[in-house]
Amino acid sequence: MERDVYLQSAEAHCERLGCKLTALRRRVLELVLEYDGVVKAYQVLADLQKERGVAAPPTVYRALDFLVEQGLLHRVDALNGFVVCNHFECSHESLILVCEDCGRVEELDAGQGLAAVRDAAGAVAFNIKPQNLVLAGTCRACHA
Ligand SMILES: [Zn+2]
Ligand SMILES: [Zn+2]
Repeated sequence: MERDVYLQSAEAHCERLGCKLTALRRRVLELVLEYDGVVKAYQVLADLQKERGVAAPPTVYRALDFLVEQGLLHRVDALNGFVVCNHFECSHESLILVCEDCGRVEELDAGQGLAAVRDAAGAVAFNIKPQNLVLAGTCRACHA
């Protein structure tokens, strides 16, 4: 999705949910969009500080939390960072495909894949919490 189109639909998405994409939240989302892949909170914080002189860490973390709650970003615990969700109209678990060569990240809806894993875990009475799975490999461009 193109950046402007993305931001527009993100704004509309928040409105539908009854919350507001404030200027700061929007700027944080824009900064995350500028990275091609996983973004760490401290990178966004550093960018914002460069821009504004000061930016309090809790403010940035709260903005990131907000974006995760609204389904605009996915938190990727395994990589200690965030990725942009490209289909935020549906809430879903995702597979985060990370290229080990170039660092490019692609996100897929985990839907069916995780259902099978959950069934297997359920067989030993283990409840898997909702989560995003990180899978390492090589992207199309790198193995071409
Ligand atoms: Zn997503
Ligand atoms: Zn690659």
